[in-house]
Amino acid sequence: MARYTGPVCRLCRREGEKLFLKGEKCSKACCPMNNVKRAVSPGQHGTSRRKVSEYGMQLREKQKARRVYGVLEAQFRNYFANADRVPGVTGENLLRLLELRLDNVSYRLGLGRSRTEARQVVRHGLLRVNGKNVNIPSYQVKVGDVIEVRDKAKTAQRFKDITEVTASRVVPAWLAADASNLRGAVSSLPTRDQIDTNVRETLIVELYSK
Ligand code: SF4
Repeated sequence: MARYTGPVCRLCRREGEKLFLKGEKCSKACCPMNNVKRAVSPGQHGTSRRKVSEYGMQLREKQKARRVYGVLEAQFRNYFANADRVPGVTGENLLRLLELRLDNVSYRLGLGRSRTEARQVVRHGLLRVNGKNVNIPSYQVKVGDVIEVRDKAKTAQRFKDITEVTASRVVPAWLAADASNLRGAVSSLPTRDQIDTNVRETLIVELYSK
């Protein structure tokens, strides 16, 4: 499926906050958003102050979530429809579905320095889920699933480089990581307080409920 391939820092600039689209690199001093206080729209008048409507806020929140997880509009709408269908709080269901994407889980386990890299790792067929090769970034993992780097890729320089950077990353409690063996398992479904994505999901629900 097609995805955004332009400069990612521009997406943070548009949302007026750090979306951490480059993983650990985003914590460094070179992040152009370090001193930016609000969203800047493209164009000559991008910096002018405008009152944001309720719809505008809801739209921005949805765009932010899409950008963080690297999901296109149509796919995001499908996630919402699925989240609305199952029991529970729709907004939380939505974030849970996004968190359970294989590319996101790989990122959380430290198998990619950014979600983009984790997606590439999946796409290149370097991962196995429960012993089977899976190369679909949107694949939904379940509780009990074991995700690991394929044996032939475990010694690759690429994973040495990745784990050097991600070794200090805190793995969320709903995942059990075995960093030395480049594997991990889903021990439970993520609860809202275990998802650190800075998104107000209720605004997204309001947007799609119009
Ligand atoms: Fe770029 Fe990361 Fe900073 Fe966003 S948070 S502007 S992706 S360096």
